[in-house]
Amino acid sequence: MIRLVILGAPGSGKGTHTYKIAKQYNLKHVVVGDAVKAEIRNKTKLGKIMYEYTSVGKFVPSDIVIDVLKSQVKDLEGFDGYIIDTAPINLEQKEAMKDFIIDGVIWLKVENYDMLRERILNRLICPKCRRVTTKSKHPEKICPCCGATLEQRYDDNEETFQKRIAQYEEKTLPVIREYQKQGIVIEINAEQEKKDVYAEICDKLNKFLEEKLKV
Ligand SMILES: [Zn+2]
Repeated sequence: MIRLVILGAPGSGKGTHTYKIAKQYNLKHVVVGDAVKAEIRNKTKLGKIMYEYTSVGKFVPSDIVIDVLKSQVKDLEGFDGYIIDTAPINLEQKEAMKDFIIDGVIWLKVENYDMLRERILNRLICPKCRRVTTKSKHPEKICPCCGATLEQRYDDNEETFQKRIAQYEEKTLPVIREYQKQGIVIEINAEQEKKDVYAEICDKLNKFLEEKLKV
């Protein structure tokens, strides 16, 4: 069983790479935000509770978000594990996830924020198959994988970008530091070309998993 978390600043490539990692390693791809939205849409017990928060513009409390995660990873039939994109994003969520076994944390590290801004403002995502691509590559906005209409995420704009970077530095970096103390962070230089980032992920992840098997 492989249980992973992927973390990184907005625009660091989490969506793209998680999609590929999940396919290659046969992992269930758990996108936290999508899972929350699906529960609300399907009016499940958790969904109804969360709707009471989101409908008035409040954040859903961490323990409820983590309950959603638990229900997502409960059924792993046909998978060799899971990769969670993106949680825990703050120490409170990390605490709420203390019952989760996390084997490794893939950290897509980017320090050049101008690069992140450019990536985000150019980004398109497929609502159907999660493929992430760019306006420059697909100006016609058709998903190259499944043919659905590509969308810009509603929060991919300058103002939200600044807020998300500040949040990441203030809330998520401390989580990564905690995992570093546990010795389970797989640090990736995500400032490289996409294919080189992915090659580094596979290389380091394979070594990490080999080490884990030895123990
Ligand atoms: Zn698609």
